[in-house]
Amino acid sequence: MSARILIIEDNQANLELMMYLLTHAGYQTIYAMDGEKGLEMIKNEVPDLIICDIQIPKVDGYEIIKTIKSESNVLSNIPLIAITAYAMVGDRERILSLGSDGYIAKPIEPEKFVHQIESFLQEKRNASLSTIEKGS
Ligand code: MN
Repeated sequence: MSARILIIEDNQANLELMMYLLTHAGYQTIYAMDGEKGLEMIKNEVPDLIICDIQIPKVDGYEIIKTIKSESNVLSNIPLIAITAYAMVGDRERILSLGSDGYIAKPIEPEKFVHQIESFLQEKRNASLSTIEKGS
């Protein structure tokens, strides 16, 4: 079964672009356009990967990363890729220090995006495989 990816993004054009690219690459996509709904969907849907814009209404991306990555359960193991337009020095460090697994700067580059996302899914797969090997 193909991976189910949750996109949390308030910009309609960006959201549609990401959904288009991922759907065409064979992934299932679900989405939320604000942080409150995003958190709800993470908990209810337990997606295989989360793509999260930082600047979103209600609950911002920093807060989502902090909330999810501090959970000591299955949710904290979901790879989370932050998307941000912020070009300020220190943002990348802040995002990663909160526990985000990766970072993609806007604008989305259509020819690179799916590959960027797949590298995170692949890392996750390798991590689970090594856990299984250790346990056997
Ligand atoms: Mn935004």
